[in-house]
Amino acid sequence: MFRRVYLDNSATTPIDPDVVKEMLPYLTEKFGNPSSIHFFGQEARGAVDKARHRVADLINAKPNQIIFTSGGTESNNLAIRGLCEMNEKYGKHIITSRIEHPAVINVCEKLEEMGFEVTYLPVYGDGIVRVEDVSAAIREDTVLISLMMANNEIGTIQPVRKVGEIVKDCRKNGNKIWFHTDAVQAAGKIPIDVGEIGCDLLSLSAHKIYAPKGTGALYSGRGVRLKPQNLGGHQEREKRGGTENVPSIVALGKACELAREGLKTSFDRLRDLRETFEDGVKERIPGVIFNGKPDTRLPNISNVTFNHLEGEGILINLDMQGIAVSTGSACSSGSLEPSPIILALGQAEDLARGAVRFSFGKENTLEDVEYVLEVLPKAVENLRKLSPGYQSAPAV
Ligand SMILES: *Cc1c(COP(=O)(O)O)cnc(C)c1O
Repeated sequence: MFRRVYLDNSATTPIDPDVVKEMLPYLTEKFGNPSSIHFFGQEARGAVDKARHRVADLINAKPNQIIFTSGGTESNNLAIRGLCEMNEKYGKHIITSRIEHPAVINVCEKLEEMGFEVTYLPVYGDGIVRVEDVSAAIREDTVLISLMMANNEIGTIQPVRKVGEIVKDCRKNGNKIWFHTDAVQAAGKIPIDVGEIGCDLLSLSAHKIYAPKGTGALYSGRGVRLKPQNLGGHQEREKRGGTENVPSIVALGKACELAREGLKTSFDRLRDLRETFEDGVKERIPGVIFNGKPDTRLPNISNVTFNHLEGEGILINLDMQGIAVSTGSACSSGSLEPSPIILALGQAEDLARGAVRFSFGKENTLEDVEYVLEVLPKAVENLRKLSPGYQSAPAV
């Protein structure tokens, strides 16, 4: 039987059967519009409220601080554009990092066109932003710091708590400055507490935590004013017009509950799978680099650079043998440009082209890892035989 192993859980996850079960009635008999006064409407309203509580519980927020959106991308757009457009009288400077998701980078670039200035902080070889660099970048006219909690390609966890402290200190001195973090990849992998982080805005996405695509949430804390980006009805406390996607919101709520309950066990399980994978790769394949600070990463991501190879070659070869991985983020694949994230680590273009992301999920087993460790070394060896650079250079 042809074996399929899905190791692209950072691109999207399968929907958990318990999540499907929870949302199903809202696709059939419980179809009401939450804004309607009658029974059908109130039934849907109740379901959305329950989901709001569950999302809030995952990140230790209050339910009325959760805005449902169409996904991580919209949450980031609403957070960054919404905050900057509302508060530009206080300044037009934004601080972010070079390794943010396109849903942050592209919004920042748009704001640059609109007259904002953006500082893109470096991450050095380990994929981590330095807190000193954050402090040094803050100016009197800085209104927003947007720093992801964990990176989607290499899994590095950023020092968001320290940034939260810096922002609080700035506020004590009277600065008008806010802090947004994209926690789409961190959710369900590591604990998230908006109070401990000290962030004002935090983005979540349903399809990265075993719920459907096209739904997400934005936490918006005390003292945050956002300019709505989606104008329409009075939904989501006037922050986001449009009839709620009730089934998917119910699904996101359930996924958040499962993520919270399973956090500790899933962390250990994923880390063990990843360690087994990385130990096996080190043992069997010469000339590899594991990207991102080893002890400051999400438990489920392994990003490996194979020298003298192109990541796409490995991806296609593995795909033919049933193994799904990715090179760079899904959004930038299809082009043969090396991943901007790997380039930001300072890897030369040639080397960076050889980066492949293996991202594990709760459906993966030890047998999956063993299968990959059987297939991958042969694939790498065969591809390297065809690589002119490899013949003349010794393995690193
Ligand atoms: C996937 C992802 C997003 C985008 O979320 P969508 O729900 O797919 O729009 C944003 N940020 C990070 C870090 C992601 O991994």
